[in-house]
Amino acid sequence: MKLIKAVRGTKDIFGDDGIKFDYITRTAQEFFTNYGYTMIKTPIFEETSLFKRGVGEGTDIVEKEMYTFQDRGERSLTLRPEGTAAVVRCYLENKIYAKEDVSRFFYAGSMFRYERPQAGRQREFNQIGVEVLGESSPILDAEVIAMGFSFLDKIGVSDLEVTINSVGEKESREKYRETLLNFLEPMKEELCDDCRMRMEKNPLRVLDCKVEKCKELTKDAPIITESLSEDEVNHYETVKKYLTIFGVKYKEDPRLVRGLDYYSSTVFEIVTNKLGSQGTVLAGGRYDNLLKQLGDKDIPAFGFAAGVERVMMLLGDDFPKRELDVYVAWLGEDTKDFAFKVANDLRVDGKSVVIDYNAKAMKGHMKKADKAGAKNVIIIGEEEMAKGVVVVKDFINRTQEEVTVDSLKNILK
Ligand code: ATP
Ligand code: MG
Repeated sequence: MKLIKAVRGTKDIFGDDGIKFDYITRTAQEFFTNYGYTMIKTPIFEETSLFKRGVGEGTDIVEKEMYTFQDRGERSLTLRPEGTAAVVRCYLENKIYAKEDVSRFFYAGSMFRYERPQAGRQREFNQIGVEVLGESSPILDAEVIAMGFSFLDKIGVSDLEVTINSVGEKESREKYRETLLNFLEPMKEELCDDCRMRMEKNPLRVLDCKVEKCKELTKDAPIITESLSEDEVNHYETVKKYLTIFGVKYKEDPRLVRGLDYYSSTVFEIVTNKLGSQGTVLAGGRYDNLLKQLGDKDIPAFGFAAGVERVMMLLGDDFPKRELDVYVAWLGEDTKDFAFKVANDLRVDGKSVVIDYNAKAMKGHMKKADKAGAKNVIIIGEEEMAKGVVVVKDFINRTQEEVTVDSLKNILK
């Protein structure tokens, strides 16, 4: 019989990878909670028009990467390619702006994009992201960038570079668009097909092209920073000042434009040189126009998303392995019920416990305990059971003592 395999561009996560994935998402949850963020969960599919309007018609995502389908009720739905549009949809739909000045959300979940699969690029992948709505201060921009950086540092990813830029507001972008188009026009025929299309729909995105030839051709393109207004320059300067206050080293990259249409003002990426052209680990920026576009509201916002699979690749084997408090070794059929009761009580008390279902000799138990990485082994033999005691063997210090069942919990503390 032919085995059915996982679909191209998707990946199972299990074993050590499961532990690693869990470690990353759990740490994110704790870390962002300390900054005042709360969990938000939005549906995995939405009306297609949300992404068309939110992410933007000229983007790679909408143009060629969306998983769009008709459901049985003939609605056009799309598996979410990113998290921001849905968070904004939820925020507007539930009028959260009327309940609080500033909202801080974090999310974790899979995203879907029809891309060419390679290391660090999948068709279903996981993101951890944050969104802050209702605050226009440039201090927020710096704070969120610093939070993203500190989070990656905390989980143990090193050698990262923070790159930042300002893409200005609509007016400056319009101005820049003209300047850039004038520069691109003479080389139009040499650019890739995608870039020629981008020139028509969103010329800024030509600067985000990953094709070497396009990068080379546009390396002397005029930069957006020269088209910024005084207010935009001031905003950008304050972001940089606070990044310095927060101790975050950054590099300015005037070509950084990001792949999604909704960005304005500050944009940033945290990149590594270890993953080839999949080097962006965490990225985001300000999106003050998106709430206007989706709900006619003048509400400023800032956010980022990190690719969990890329973080996992960078962590390698360097993450905390699961610890086991106790392995319960029972010797002889008569001790079985008692041993399972002891194991159950310890688990209820919050200890991690492994116990085997089959009878084993001492040697077999020790092998298993070792393999499971147990810190302690509790040995339950017939003689001990009759006395109401067990032997606790400290696997790390190689000591052992006989204790009463009642005092077990205290000993294991
Ligand atoms: P890239 O330039 O690498 O295509 P992007 O600009 O499309 O990334 P965003 O939409 O900003 O990426 O998503 C934020 C993060 O999600 C990225 O920095 C990356 O870590 C991760 N990511 C994006 N697309 C994929 C993918 N297809 N597979 C795995 N991770 C991804
Ligand atoms: Mg992309």
